[in-house]
Amino acid sequence: MNFDMDLENRIMDPAELPEDLGDSDNPLRPKILQDYIGQEKVKENLSIYMEAARQRKEALDHVLLYGPPGLGKTTLAGIIANEMGVGLRITSGPAIEKPGDLAALLTNLNEGDVLFIDEIHRLSRAVEEILYPSMEDFAIDIITGKGQMAASYHLPLPRFTLVGATTRAGQLTAPLRDRFGVVLRLEMYTPQELSSIIKRSATILNMPIDEDGALEIASRSRGTPRIANRLLKRVRDFAQVMSNGVITCETAQIALDRMEIDELGLDSNDRRMIEALIKFYRGGPVGVETLAAAIGEEAVTIEDVYEPYLMQIGFLNRTPRGRCVTAAACKHLGYDLPNAEKGQATLFND
Ligand code: ADP
Repeated sequence: MNFDMDLENRIMDPAELPEDLGDSDNPLRPKILQDYIGQEKVKENLSIYMEAARQRKEALDHVLLYGPPGLGKTTLAGIIANEMGVGLRITSGPAIEKPGDLAALLTNLNEGDVLFIDEIHRLSRAVEEILYPSMEDFAIDIITGKGQMAASYHLPLPRFTLVGATTRAGQLTAPLRDRFGVVLRLEMYTPQELSSIIKRSATILNMPIDEDGALEIASRSRGTPRIANRLLKRVRDFAQVMSNGVITCETAQIALDRMEIDELGLDSNDRRMIEALIKFYRGGPVGVETLAAAIGEEAVTIEDVYEPYLMQIGFLNRTPRGRCVTAAACKHLGYDLPNAEKGQATLFND
């Protein structure tokens, strides 16, 4: 893979990269609900649940957040802890390898604390077994020693709030899902919401930006705040050289075109996937594993990273028989909608 390709892949990757800065020192992460832009339904419900818990002087019920990466799940966990005036511990499903790891985390919590587990669908069965009683009864049973020396201890835990995050609610086991009192789904952001996020970030980072510049970056950010913030930082360099440091619509357009991010936010990977569907599979349906093999990607990457946005903008459909492109996607890339009879897609200007 050449350097340019690698760089470009990283720019549109909704997963967190080192350049996005770590959890605590990211100045762009809103700290209070009022600064959290968009997700109105989620915010409305959450503020009521938090207010009620505060009035009863109880810990907030366990919360499950689900939606594609980069939409603000970790941020929301931090806001919950902040608004409830409690501590926050951050970990992830794959990081908790053994039941003992989870026991250590749980026994170190203070009353009311928030424990955030990212990628909670990746917890092992053995760890999940310990999590159930902790969530329900706020206690764990620890067994030490073996054979005749074995002893069991019943360890009470502080009342804590588990905030679980997942990109795939469908992969959660039913017993785990049922133990969350609050289940919230995060939606992709509209260009207007992303534009507000970009303007807020630009103010924090001291970058002058005009209304159209913000909207231009927003409309190419795939509905994802993490990508919006990343593109903003990249566009800044162009603005510095081309327009006295002010991010205008024109500088944003030039910068994003150079990065091969088109006006809908599609990058070369999206285009490659859609083209493969059109050229090799007559627009589909094709199974995700087959498609993954054809473009040399992991099926999970297609499902978690490419598909949510392509479906959101009406370029891709998931059917029981596989993935299909839409007429809109073909038009955007300059192809006729493949005709199954002819078995081939043709370029408009062939
Ligand atoms: P996730 O945990 O879903 O992958 P994060 O919570 O890490 O996503 O969010 C990624 C970045 O996007 C954060 O650092 C934050 O700066 C920004 N962000 C996310 N949601 C919002 C929002 N609603 N308002 C403002 N900024 C946001």
